[in-house]
Amino acid sequence: MDAVETAYKAPLKLTPEEKKHFADPAMQEADNSNFPSALEIVSNGLDAHPASEGLLFLKAYFGYKVADTMSNELSSYPRVIEPLGNGALMIDGAMTSQMLGKFHQIIDTLSETEEAINELLQVNPKSKDVVDFKGYIDLKKQQLNQESENMQATFNRSPQLAGSFCAGCQRSISYTTQKVVFKRTADSRLEAWHFGCFQSSSKN
Ligand SMILES: [Zn+2]
Repeated sequence: MDAVETAYKAPLKLTPEEKKHFADPAMQEADNSNFPSALEIVSNGLDAHPASEGLLFLKAYFGYKVADTMSNELSSYPRVIEPLGNGALMIDGAMTSQMLGKFHQIIDTLSETEEAINELLQVNPKSKDVVDFKGYIDLKKQQLNQESENMQATFNRSPQLAGSFCAGCQRSISYTTQKVVFKRTADSRLEAWHFGCFQSSSKN
């Protein structure tokens, strides 16, 4: 995100007191990629100096870095959907639920970032850097909202499309906690299987 990084390199509007007690220690944490601590330090600083333009900017920036780090962690998650061949699809419900939780955490963090940016814009409405920053955060939030809504919709639709019972053992399926396999039957109905039941059935 070039616009944000460029803005971060611009001189910050800080009093010597804000710099010494909050901005410098926060930057030090940030240099060690410890963005949650950096965010906490500047948030504390804003409790004492609520209108500080420099601290507001740092809060927005570190919030964005926290959200960005969480997004990168998501990409290292194991795949939640895996094709098994012959049109069968495995969905890991527990992992999908975890990812949804993570999505919401990121969205919350971005919302806090956005609040800081909105306050910044009140102090300095014409800053192009800040306007660009806001545009980027808005876009990122929209994308994440869309992705998590799609994921949630898939979850919600599963019982309607494939029923609530395993085609193998006939016991109930929990789409949000279990590994489930979806498969089309010869007459093109969609059936759901527990992953384990599906594996033992395909061995026979
Ligand atoms: Zn089963």
